[in-house]
Amino acid sequence: MNVADNFIAGKRVQSKSNDGHSVWNPATGEEIGRTPFSTATEVESAIAAAVKAGEDWGTSSLATRQQILFSIRQKLVDHTEELAQLITMENGKTIEDARMELRRGLEAIEFSCGIPHLLKGEHSSTVATGIDVHSILQPIGVVACITPFNFPVMVPLWMLANAIACGNTAVLKPSDKTPSSSVRMVELLFEAGLPAGVLNLVQGDKSAVDILLSHPDIAAVSFIGSTPVAKSVYETAAKNGKRVQALGGAKNHLVVLPDADMDAAASAAVASSFGAAGERCMAVSVLVAVGDAADKLIPKVAELAKGLNVGDGATGGRDLGPLVTGDHRDRVASYLDSGVEEGATIVLDGREDDLYRGPGFFLRPSIMDNVKPGMKAYKDEIFGPVLSVIRVENLGDALEMVNENPYGNGAVVFTESGANAREFQLKCNAGMVGVNVPIPTPVGWFSFGGWKSSLFGDLHMYGPDGVRFFTRQKVVTSRWFQKTEGTDKVFPFHMGVTA
Ligand code: NAD
Repeated sequence: MNVADNFIAGKRVQSKSNDGHSVWNPATGEEIGRTPFSTATEVESAIAAAVKAGEDWGTSSLATRQQILFSIRQKLVDHTEELAQLITMENGKTIEDARMELRRGLEAIEFSCGIPHLLKGEHSSTVATGIDVHSILQPIGVVACITPFNFPVMVPLWMLANAIACGNTAVLKPSDKTPSSSVRMVELLFEAGLPAGVLNLVQGDKSAVDILLSHPDIAAVSFIGSTPVAKSVYETAAKNGKRVQALGGAKNHLVVLPDADMDAAASAAVASSFGAAGERCMAVSVLVAVGDAADKLIPKVAELAKGLNVGDGATGGRDLGPLVTGDHRDRVASYLDSGVEEGATIVLDGREDDLYRGPGFFLRPSIMDNVKPGMKAYKDEIFGPVLSVIRVENLGDALEMVNENPYGNGAVVFTESGANAREFQLKCNAGMVGVNVPIPTPVGWFSFGGWKSSLFGDLHMYGPDGVRFFTRQKVVTSRWFQKTEGTDKVFPFHMGVTA
């Protein structure tokens, strides 16, 4: 059985821990590996290796870092297929989706290849007689990157690309459910020329995370996962004096106005809510049908969802694969029961299929209509292929619903009216907004992040915010004296800039 390795000081090593977690192939239901819960000594030696490597990496030239980032990019491109297969094997998403995960992760590396430009500070000449001011962006030190199961390569790259480019060293703690692709990715980074210790990887769960959050040598924590864990990671790390960004869960609404192109809206709802079996933080989980949109829309959505090709994502040509574990599949399916108990009606029941009976962890696309805001299926993040439909009277009601929801990751509107689209994007309380697009995940040269309980901290992930998160700014005010007779070397006693 494959046991996921650690990487410490550039060496691939197995944890000595006997504690661990099963790793499954969700398409077959077989246990295929184990994630060890690294010991405290192992986590501490990963941090120590990062501290040591930071002495050289933090002062390495921008040209050196840029060349390594270019070769990392090429290495990952060359190994896309191998990484995609590992992702699919443990996560269950289709092989096509896994390749796209790589592509979106590569965007972060491609952005960070421009690091010599991105780290340019500002300069003001002659702010007072003979005095110039400039700012420099310096690394913050050792950063901890803690990542979720649903993007085991893309999310680590979102964090690591800027972290490393900015001169920091890192300890990555990947998801215990999908460790293999993260391990292979780290190995490829070393093959591409990343010096030993600049990146370290420790397997584990809460106990490894707790050490990272409290260790004095960790300067910053970048986290993505569920909201309760994100909140607790944010609070603990901040209390321990660390800079933190902790991105959490989501409940993304797709609002369809009566004037929308119903074919496009239906296709978007199906792709966004059932793609990757709904295990995306940007997946639409609530379809808000405004006015008479519901009667035209719901039959189209149900028809498209019924026709989706569900099966082992590794075989190619599937629309969606299984959920990550059997427990998670059962939890997702339970919302179909709780929805009905609370008054929702089932339009499509994904349990009515042989696939649901195993051995894999499948649930076909499911749709519930007449869902109301107070219901459990609306309040919780389901994180699976269950789409809730809510009917409202007008755009104002739809906006109120989006804004009252505690999450604020993504929100989408489908409409042919520019004025309504404009009102929606200005008034909705979400960090990423789509107009007539299913999944408004920003391209790699913008930044990614939600509002409200979808992000704890100030700075978003990757892109320009990523550079801000992984650097500390210093402002230098300097004066050089001419060695000529009569130069005034007396400084004023009062504060302020003199002419
Ligand atoms: P999770 O919160 O269970 O785990 C995330 C990471 O935290 C993992 O590395 C895990 O080992 C660790 N962890 C788990 N419990 C912990 C605890 N009690 N203390 C400290 N660390 C702990 O999340 P998941 O199930 O792996 O991922 C799915 C969740 O991530 C969903 O809620 C999804 O919306 C969210 N997500 C958010 C984004 C985003 O950008 N906002 C992106 C992807 C996923």
